[in-house]
Amino acid sequence: MLVRSVDDRKIENLKQLLAECTDCVVLTHSRPDGDAMGSSLALSLFLKACGKKATVVVPNDYPPFLAWMPSIADVLVYDKNVAAAEEVLKNADLFFCLDFNSLSRIDEVGKVVAELPTKRVLIDHHLAPDNVFDISISHPEACSTAELVFKVLWQMGEADRIDASIAECIYTGIMTDTGNFAYASGRKEVYHIVAELISKGIDKDLIYRRVFYNYSFSRMRLLGFMMYEKLRYFPEYNAALITLTYDEFMRFHAAKGDTEGIVNMPLQIKGVRFSCFLREEMPGKVNVSLRSVDDFPCNKVAEKFFSGGGHKNASGGEVRGTMDEAVQLFEKALADYSRELTE
Ligand code: 5GP
Ligand code: MN
Repeated sequence: MLVRSVDDRKIENLKQLLAECTDCVVLTHSRPDGDAMGSSLALSLFLKACGKKATVVVPNDYPPFLAWMPSIADVLVYDKNVAAAEEVLKNADLFFCLDFNSLSRIDEVGKVVAELPTKRVLIDHHLAPDNVFDISISHPEACSTAELVFKVLWQMGEADRIDASIAECIYTGIMTDTGNFAYASGRKEVYHIVAELISKGIDKDLIYRRVFYNYSFSRMRLLGFMMYEKLRYFPEYNAALITLTYDEFMRFHAAKGDTEGIVNMPLQIKGVRFSCFLREEMPGKVNVSLRSVDDFPCNKVAEKFFSGGGHKNASGGEVRGTMDEAVQLFEKALADYSRELTE
């Protein structure tokens, strides 16, 4: 059964804000993933169905394997079209902030938003949101922000407005943030929601193929290269590391999105509880992705060593420096967390 776990006073406040607004902007985090796009597109489609203007603004582009998503062509990518995005932000009378907990997670968009008096509604499942939202619907126990969007619509009494397109977007968010129900998805309510989505007419197997069976040949070759040449196993720490330099990325004609999900793979090695993927995005900047299983808090490692954060089992950050420096930081983190990794 579905549970009314979102505070009903917040739902009432949200209904009030919705009644008063005409021009909404839905914001989601930098380097948006399936949940960021799924939750944002679902909410924007709902708002449009209610007769509002609604635009999704993302700080930078979404990965190509999400290009099939309903209405994604209408998304405004800030770093590709700064003037148009700023115009839309300035004209909005309500902001929805989805799948992030701090304005710093939306890069330059956050600076624009911080200067505007427009009310902000947070719907998110990351820990400890900043205190900069007028309504804060923050549920770290939720598997995804998409799940929360479903809950909010349902609690508002608007479940009937969820059509097949909205349901596809919500399902995509739930499916991607749980690794197709491999983690963070042990609550039975998740499956009641999935059942509701299926009753709206989605083809869940098709969505799976669109997202996960949609890679390029170059990605497969890159994957082989990384697993064979670039994967390091640290059995004494139950950990693994994959690195990819900018030159290697270019050599394999890899595209944005081609490295998606690779950080999870070393967790398939028996005993590995902590996995790190270091990708040199450009010379001098290394992007950090961390994953863990059970109780090992990789977000603490992200905070302490990589100026980042995230969830207990999925987090990230960056290193302003060389790949060697990033690797050294990772090795230092292993030594620092040796007890937690081996107990
Ligand atoms: P990914 O490895 O997929 O890029 O990121 C996994 C998760 O880590 C994201 O969903 C997000 O919660 C968190 N994350 C990634 N990068 C950062 C960052 O730079 N700062 C913070 N606070 N969280 C991050
Ligand atoms: Mn999410």
